[in-house]
Amino acid sequence: MNQPITSPIIPEYAVPVTAQIESLNPHYSAEKKQQVIAEIKQLLKEQDAVLVAHYYVEEDLQRLAEETGGYISDSLDMAKFGNEHPAKTLIVAGVRFMGETAKILTPEKRVLMPTLEAECSLDLSCPIEDFAPFCDQYPDHTVVVYANTSADVKARADYVVTSGIAVNLVKWLGDQGKKVLWAPDKHLGHYIEKVTGVEMVRWQGSCIVHDEFKNHSLGKLVEKHPDAAVLVHPESPANIIAMADSVGSTTQIINAAKNMPNKQFIVATDKAIFYKMKQAAPDKEFIAAPTHGEGATCISCAHCPWMAMNGLHNLLDVLKTGKNEIFVDENVRVKALQSTQRMLDFAQDHMS
Ligand code: SF4
Repeated sequence: MNQPITSPIIPEYAVPVTAQIESLNPHYSAEKKQQVIAEIKQLLKEQDAVLVAHYYVEEDLQRLAEETGGYISDSLDMAKFGNEHPAKTLIVAGVRFMGETAKILTPEKRVLMPTLEAECSLDLSCPIEDFAPFCDQYPDHTVVVYANTSADVKARADYVVTSGIAVNLVKWLGDQGKKVLWAPDKHLGHYIEKVTGVEMVRWQGSCIVHDEFKNHSLGKLVEKHPDAAVLVHPESPANIIAMADSVGSTTQIINAAKNMPNKQFIVATDKAIFYKMKQAAPDKEFIAAPTHGEGATCISCAHCPWMAMNGLHNLLDVLKTGKNEIFVDENVRVKALQSTQRMLDFAQDHMS
């Protein structure tokens, strides 16, 4: 396989530290928490709003979504649920591109987020100002982008994909002799190339959470738990993926925990997913894969700092004030919808 042609230098962006974010979030007493939750439930009803939460946000928000008829999932399923739900307002607990994806699919609804400061390193690493001219250098390539991108980048793409669909779609394009330009996750891109054999021009972004998993420490943990299966998200580096018993998207990781016979699992993705994994397999044990350092010496410690910005406090605030609404320029939205819809059509035709 040739050396990959890669993106220009990735722009610098500030990365918050999970422990610092968590220390800034208010810590409620049990009584106060119940009061806040009751108030949120009341406001959701009054405002005809539904809460849609990502697997990586804190347990309180995931539980609240379930208890109020909302939904917990990955970014695309969150948007699809919001699109099909009759509520007039969608509250998206996750990071900014997830709110945008909801708006792309459902422009007629009001989309609010607990915070607009929750970013994603993949999205930040791939600004449209750099990405569009890069794509222009490869006019004969089909542009495939991961869902973790801005509406502008989705609008520039031919296809949007999730991690659960990326391999199938790139293989399908490769079988037709198409050349593929991939963005933004370098690890997922490398994994797709390896599995499909389709060489791609690749952008070089990465997820700060999955980037921190460390293979030496993971090896030691596996030695300590020889019967545990290792479940890895493909945003992780290749040397972590190489140690996996199963590689898959968030939903595929939850299903693997349920369906594999092992009683213990070492999990290389954001540990907030344990809430749903424990529900899916209550008699099994889940251990977070080791990251660079502990406490103050790791950035994410297996929990995304931007996801950690979502909490009961700012959810309540948004319901009270109506602030943090998501808007997407209509021209951009229509183009982004086309590339997203192509993925949905592909899933319908080839994966159902
Ligand atoms: S976990 Fe990684 S990919 Fe997911 S939102 Fe955080 S930075 Fe982005």
